[in-house]
Amino acid sequence: MPSAVITIDQLTGWLRRFHQLVIKNQAELTELDSAIGDADHGINMARGMAAVIDKLDGEQPARVNDLFKTVAMTLVMSVGGASGPLYGTFFLRFAGAVGSVTELDTAALATGLHAGRAGVVERGKAGLGDKTMIDALSPALEAMEAVIKTGGDLAAAVTAARDAAADGRDATVPMVARKGRASYLGERSAGHMDPGAASMTLLFDALAAELAG
Ligand code: ADP
Ligand code: MG
Repeated sequence: MPSAVITIDQLTGWLRRFHQLVIKNQAELTELDSAIGDADHGINMARGMAAVIDKLDGEQPARVNDLFKTVAMTLVMSVGGASGPLYGTFFLRFAGAVGSVTELDTAALATGLHAGRAGVVERGKAGLGDKTMIDALSPALEAMEAVIKTGGDLAAAVTAARDAAADGRDATVPMVARKGRASYLGERSAGHMDPGAASMTLLFDALAAELAG
């Protein structure tokens, strides 16, 4: 029987796996950012997640909101680029939406992710099609929602989210950037994958991998 909840240990495992995936893909993320940005997205995310893991190694929060608040603060403090405050807002809103609990069921996970997206949209003002991390995040949440509505379990919802994030990331290639540094390039931003959509997809890859065990 697949589990119906994700525990705080698994949520921590999710963050550790995300860190590992960021390290593994650091050069690629930076290469993507060198085409349409300032060649630092891999470095930014690796630095931020290394700081997060350092912090969690020192003190492991027992509550989900405290865990994600710690992640948020650490990212905002350690990442210089736009992605730091954006991912920071994502995790801070996630924390606020799920509250002081020790595990999340499928609905609570979806609630947290939705609140996180709302925070990123509020802060960055990007919509679907603007060639940002939102183009991976939004389809992921919609796919998750669709699985939940048809009675699918946690693992199925997260797997669907991961696949949709990857499709959304790939769909950023022909887009013209309308937000962030890449928008300075105008039409010349087309033909390249958005680095933030690529790192956001890694976040869902990590979650799916954690739930697969
Ligand atoms: P910077 O652009 O400051 O160098 P990064 O390179 O770390 O920061 O991150 C760039 C990524 O951040 C982009 O690929 C994009 O996905 C995301 N991003 C930038 N601006 C926005 C925004 N306004 N809304 C959502 N995401 C954004
Ligand atoms: Mg950059």
